[in-house]
Amino acid sequence: MAHAHLTIDLDAIAANWRALDETSPPHVETGAVVKADGYGLGSGRVAATLARAGATSFFVAQAGEGREVRKAVGDEADIYVFAGHLDGDADLLTASRLIPCLNSPDQVARHFSRLPGHPFAVQLDSGMNRLGLEPEDWDALKGDLIDAGPRLVMSHLACADEPDHPMNARQLTQFRDMTDGIAHRRSLGATGGIMMGPEYHFDLTRPGVGLYGGLPFAEATPVVALSAPVIQTRTVRPFETVGYANSWEAKIESRIATISAGYADGLIRAMGPKAQVYAGNTPCPVVGRVSMDLITVDVTHLDEVPERLDILSPAQGVDALADAAGTIGYEILTSLGHRYARHYTGGA
Ligand SMILES: *Cc1c(COP(=O)(O)O)cnc(C)c1O
Repeated sequence: MAHAHLTIDLDAIAANWRALDETSPPHVETGAVVKADGYGLGSGRVAATLARAGATSFFVAQAGEGREVRKAVGDEADIYVFAGHLDGDADLLTASRLIPCLNSPDQVARHFSRLPGHPFAVQLDSGMNRLGLEPEDWDALKGDLIDAGPRLVMSHLACADEPDHPMNARQLTQFRDMTDGIAHRRSLGATGGIMMGPEYHFDLTRPGVGLYGGLPFAEATPVVALSAPVIQTRTVRPFETVGYANSWEAKIESRIATISAGYADGLIRAMGPKAQVYAGNTPCPVVGRVSMDLITVDVTHLDEVPERLDILSPAQGVDALADAAGTIGYEILTSLGHRYARHYTGGA
């Protein structure tokens, strides 16, 4: 087929969830973070797959993302909203039965006045200074919040992709100081926290990127494959240039293949000069600038130019491509565009 293909292996997502679940002791529940449209892979398909695999707690970033997830997972599962209860969210929270993670005294007041009796969770700031109640806010509100019965009390780690970073232990101590002794369920670790061991697991873990095959879950089963058709091949003589701004010049007579995918498909321009695409296991350097819809590739060394070249494959995973682009796997995943012919495998 003459389009770029994105293949998403739902069985691999389920296998990653099970593997992460097995990493923590049996009494620890493993949730699933499906924010940002399931890290770009389709929150409905991903959530339905994980619900079948056994997940019963899901997390989205914003209330608006919860509707699709609720449809996919049925009535029983819990769906938490990290951003909490924003002005105007009450209808969404009610309609899709979402649990806001209350982050500030304002959100607490809003939730109790607009949706009294509606379930909520509490997010605490243990040092990241991004979202969550500060220790002083928590001291002041703890009595009322605990009386009202939060479904979960959680916090988030800033440096969990670096297990040896002293920030991890500092945040663990801070979270314990704020929550030891409460009778409610607690959650601290995302993918990186799971990797750091049981101290960080508490009652519920919240993996995201590891489900989708990304670091810091190094043993993850790859989830995405992306290939693009070669739509033209040409010979370029020495001193001829390729692409915008003449940024690549042939040193020797070269074969250049043009593939149909570009930055409008999420293949960011930054991945230009260091990135490679693959013919099977053979790397082929990207040459010249990444255009909106096209990428030019040096295929001089290939005996035969294949019909398609692989951008993400067993030879080059999400994090390897991210490295070449000077970014992280999370950004590669969530940038994957909607122009690709998307194909889901497994998940039945
Ligand atoms: C995104 C996010 C997660 C998931 O993190 P990963 O690193 O993708 O596993 C968990 N908790 C919170 C609060 C988040 O924002």
